[in-house]
Amino acid sequence: MPAHGTVSAVIQTLEGAQEVAKAIRQSGYLLDKNDLKRLLADLSASISESKMELTLLQSVIEEKDAELIRMNEAQVYRGNLRRRGDAYYKTIDTRPYGQPYCSYCWEKDNQLYHLHNRILSRDTRVCPHCKNDYQAVRTPFLDADKIAV
Ligand SMILES: [Zn+2]
Repeated sequence: MPAHGTVSAVIQTLEGAQEVAKAIRQSGYLLDKNDLKRLLADLSASISESKMELTLLQSVIEEKDAELIRMNEAQVYRGNLRRRGDAYYKTIDTRPYGQPYCSYCWEKDNQLYHLHNRILSRDTRVCPHCKNDYQAVRTPFLDADKIAV
């Protein structure tokens, strides 16, 4: 049995449906009611399995699409991000601005996560993904207006 959510799994379920067609042909198209009922039940089961496998395959494809989008974004941002203090920032004319991104997640996985203020703390920011803490003074919000050209 191939892994679920693969083309092989879909093909295998379709082969189940083909087996039903083969059985009908081999009978010379002469089947009693009970055999016909059984074969129709097999056919319905194969179609249901095909639908399920196609749904799983669709989610595999969607995950891959999301991964491609993420990789493309990482590629685009790679040239436009700058480290300042303990975080990364987008840049305008090479000058960092805006909200800080987690430096650990960017350097390890090329993923961009904004740091959040820790609840009830003005001194600490936290990455929602890796949960690393950062000092707020080392990861400030940089106002874009103040670096306007
Ligand atoms: Zn992180």
